[in-house]
Amino acid sequence: MVLLALATAAYTWVVSYIVDTANAADQTDDGLENARRYAFLILPVLLGITFISGISNYAQRILANSIALNAVGKLQKQMFRSSHRTDYASFSAAPIGDRISKFTNDVTIISNALIRVLSNLIKDLLTVVFTIGFMLWQNWLLSLVMAVFILALLPIIEISRRMRGSATQVQSHIGVITSQLKESFGGARMVKAYALEDHENQRLGQSFNERIRLYLKLVTQQARVDPILEILGGLAIAGVVIFGVYQVSSSLASAGDIAAILTGVLILSPRLRALGTLNNVIQEGLAASTRIFGVIDETANIVDQPNAIILSEPRGQIRFEDVSFSYPDGTLALKSVELKAELGETIALVGPSGGGKSTIINLIPRLYEVSKGRVTIDGHDVRDVTLQSLRNSIALVSQDVTLFDDTVANNIKFGEQTATRDEIIAAAKAADAHEFIQSLADGYDTQVGEDGENLSGGQKQRISIARAILRDAPILLLDEATSALDAQSEAKVQAAMDRLSQGRTTIVIAHRLSTVKQADRIYVLDKGEIVETGTHKSLSRKKSGLYAKLQKLQFG
Ligand code: ADP
Repeated sequence: MVLLALATAAYTWVVSYIVDTANAADQTDDGLENARRYAFLILPVLLGITFISGISNYAQRILANSIALNAVGKLQKQMFRSSHRTDYASFSAAPIGDRISKFTNDVTIISNALIRVLSNLIKDLLTVVFTIGFMLWQNWLLSLVMAVFILALLPIIEISRRMRGSATQVQSHIGVITSQLKESFGGARMVKAYALEDHENQRLGQSFNERIRLYLKLVTQQARVDPILEILGGLAIAGVVIFGVYQVSSSLASAGDIAAILTGVLILSPRLRALGTLNNVIQEGLAASTRIFGVIDETANIVDQPNAIILSEPRGQIRFEDVSFSYPDGTLALKSVELKAELGETIALVGPSGGGKSTIINLIPRLYEVSKGRVTIDGHDVRDVTLQSLRNSIALVSQDVTLFDDTVANNIKFGEQTATRDEIIAAAKAADAHEFIQSLADGYDTQVGEDGENLSGGQKQRISIARAILRDAPILLLDEATSALDAQSEAKVQAAMDRLSQGRTTIVIAHRLSTVKQADRIYVLDKGEIVETGTHKSLSRKKSGLYAKLQKLQFG
């Protein structure tokens, strides 16, 4: 950058040299002789300057890009790590699309800003400094016209302040668009089935229009900088000519001086304008970095205590002691819940929707922290053991199966990365999934598609059961599927679940009669409270109880 700046600034000297040589040739015979001799010198000098400028331009460009890309890559990694380290609650606090847009849009903005800063800020600043230096050396008095550019400072500072606000609005709004796109394409099945295309066109159309409005506001502010500097550049050129002619006539300056200073102004003007618009990019970059560091600096509240112990040989006894819990938005979801699950027992949670069943499941792996009371595993408060060992002792099978766009085998070993192919197959057999997996195009190496779109509901569930079997954790948290599977796959899923829960402490959100019948104990939850406890037999006998009513409704 230093070389490039020096080479550019040197043009002012070259021009004065050319003009003065030509001028001298005009006037005397001696001068003509000299001019002929020196004219040939100009070729190697110009070649030298352009060569240095070309090579250094090439090198600094590659360097600047690689520095910026590496820095941004690091930011992305930090942001991703921080996203997964933070509390589960922060994922429901803001739309996922906004988080995603920080990884795509904001990162690109920072990367562009960094590249421009690295290649332009230093290069242009140095060019400005060196050029002014050459100009002062050439004719310091004539160079003073450059002072008009100082007039631009105040308006530019004010414009920058507004620009940063507008840039933040643009970037947050791109987060909104990303969320809406994700929703709309994710729900493509519904959109088509309900013929909602027009509705979606209109909804997203409004968002796209809003983007145009916000961006135009930003661009309007950015566009003000350039004309200010352009007008000042014009003033400077006029100043040099007027002032210069006056100086030449009083023999204070040569024609070469005027040519050199004019060249200086012509070199400076675009640089100063570039520095002015560079400021636009810097303001956008600062707005983006505020959003990015917002993610990197997210603090997790649910972390290991300093003296947390490792749950080394978890057996799986679970207790809820007087547990109350409110979600971050203030919804009271559990009130003084007492619950116990002894080793190997199956505990069924039943009750109307919104009763608090999922919340109980969420509190065991400490996805949320209890507001009052405590949850214990093998007698240890879950807050006193390490998150890693706590969660390693738990397998979760949820009704909304999460599959990744990877092979069947990799999806099964998701919770047990070191599993061998034989172990994967054994787990799939136990989950009654081996047969259908083998009939897939590439067997265990078949890609399942995004969220397992290439598989049926029952198949996805059996893969998730195989995953839990392979994990071989002493505690099993089950959210039974309510979605209607056909009778045959339901029987298969049920059989697989039964095999899975053998010998493990199982807490299941029950939707099936067979599950509640087998349960060692049933807890009936209503509005966050446990209203009845007992076995299927004992609860069925209390005809006026909630369970008996639910049983009629839910299980027929
Ligand atoms: P169930 O599983 O029995 O249907 P939940 O445990 O999901 O019930 O919900 C219990 C209560 O907590 C409900 O009032 C529900 O609206 C509320 N709730 C559930 N999840 C959240 C959340 N992430 N944020 C705020 N409130 C929630």
